Amino acid sequence: MTTTPTLPNYINGQWCASKTTDYLDVINPATAEIIALVPVSPASEVNQAVAAAAAAFITWRRTPAPERVQYLFKLKNLLEENFEDLARTITVECGKTLAESQGEMRRAIENVEVACGIPMMMQGTNLEDIARGIDEMMIRQPLGVAAVICPFNFPGMIPFWFLPYAIATGNTYIVKPSEKVPLTMQKIFGLVEKTGLPKGVLNLVNGAKDTVDAILDHPQIRAISFVGSTPVAKYIYSRAAANGKRVQCQGGAKNPLIVLPDADIEMTTRIAADSAFGCAGQRCLAASIAVTVADARDSFTEAIAETAKKRVVGNGLDQGVEMGPVIDLRSKTRVEQLIQQGVEEGANLLVDGRKPQISGYEQGNFIRPTILQNVNPAGEIARTEIFGPVLSLIHVNTIDDAIAFVNSGQYGNMACLFTSSGAAARKFRYEAEVGNIGINIGVAAPMAFFPFSGWKESFFGDLHGQSNHAVEFFTQTKVVVERWPKDWSRQF
Ligand code: NAD
Repeated sequence: MTTTPTLPNYINGQWCASKTTDYLDVINPATAEIIALVPVSPASEVNQAVAAAAAAFITWRRTPAPERVQYLFKLKNLLEENFEDLARTITVECGKTLAESQGEMRRAIENVEVACGIPMMMQGTNLEDIARGIDEMMIRQPLGVAAVICPFNFPGMIPFWFLPYAIATGNTYIVKPSEKVPLTMQKIFGLVEKTGLPKGVLNLVNGAKDTVDAILDHPQIRAISFVGSTPVAKYIYSRAAANGKRVQCQGGAKNPLIVLPDADIEMTTRIAADSAFGCAGQRCLAASIAVTVADARDSFTEAIAETAKKRVVGNGLDQGVEMGPVIDLRSKTRVEQLIQQGVEEGANLLVDGRKPQISGYEQGNFIRPTILQNVNPAGEIARTEIFGPVLSLIHVNTIDDAIAFVNSGQYGNMACLFTSSGAAARKFRYEAEVGNIGINIGVAAPMAFFPFSGWKESFFGDLHGQSNHAVEFFTQTKVVVERWPKDWSRQF
């Protein structure tokens, strides 16, 4: 008989069992099997992690940047060596297909690679002779202890939008994974341990709301990064900022994909289906509304319905599967209720993916690709983040109407345009009020060497994750103005 593992925290270079009595089930969404128990770590364990990180900061910030990044080079190699195992773990706890998990881990590793350039990226600026014999310089220094609070949908990648930059710039760090998918970070911290990183530089504290609140209120934590739903993002942004912390919060989304009549319909359909149904629609960059313009309506509608019906749904570990389950039963029920609400608001259920039979996985949280046609642009369904494999179709007559629809939304994470016109593309990227734009691209995910944007209710803060924004977020600038009145050379 196998026993369900109880997950430890990793604090001050040690794996330690939580003292909590409050444990949550970690469930494989394809099989409903309980695969681990995750502790809701109490404030006292957050305090231990902060104390360890604060102690480690004293020597870590004095460790030269070229020496700090050596640990990231080692981590990159270990992530490569364990790539398949990590991808498999993501699929088991999160449900996405193995290919999607591999893509996710690749994106995580790319952030480690970019952060290895910190000795260049962290440099300041200077100017000699701002006045006669006076020089001025701006230097970047780390903040101290920082933390990240993560969502369930990318357990391997999202912590890496922040973690490599935080430690490479000389901060010490605490990771709080989503309680729904804590296994990937357990494995990654096993690799962190193997790098020989000094104890206390990276700490892992599992938990849920109470753990998060302890992080938000801890006076020694200087900066918090959050990725998750908009209501929680708003809560975290306001509570952490009220406590004087630097905060960046990435929130939810409702991403429109516009199809102009001059788009290549075969390519558009393939890309749109991958955007809407990839990762079972649980990507913050998933297209969830397709807006057809003028004559694009009939050809796109017919093609996307055919593509949706053919998508192979099942356990992400199985070969040939193109879409896995949604994360949990609560999410499945919510998505099915929202589909019903769309119908009640007047939409036509062109493809109904509710209650599928997936042979061998009857307990899994599966929904097949679903398409709602003639969705009311002013209704709830056109505005609510569904976070499941559901694509809503609406129709307008001009590109101006489409852009007006994009700009009327509360979110501003991503919008995509499909066209063969450069002028239309330029107009769209100029006028659309969103942070990430795709032109003939369905998931406009910025590479690690660009910041991951997001506007309106999809982002709270100013500096984003990844790249030079992350370097700026994790450092504070100091300006030095210097005068040396004697001629130094004459002293010798
Ligand atoms: P969530 O907001 O439920 O949870 C995110 C984290 O917040 C978890 O670690 C959880 O423990 C914690 N949390 C949840 N409720 C809390 C509360 N009341 N107080 C304090 N902490 C709390 O999000 P999720 O369901 O895990 O992730 C899906 C959401 O994340 C979607 O809305 C998606 O769009 C969004 N997301 C956004 C981006 C982006 O880049 N903008 C990326 C990925 C996911």
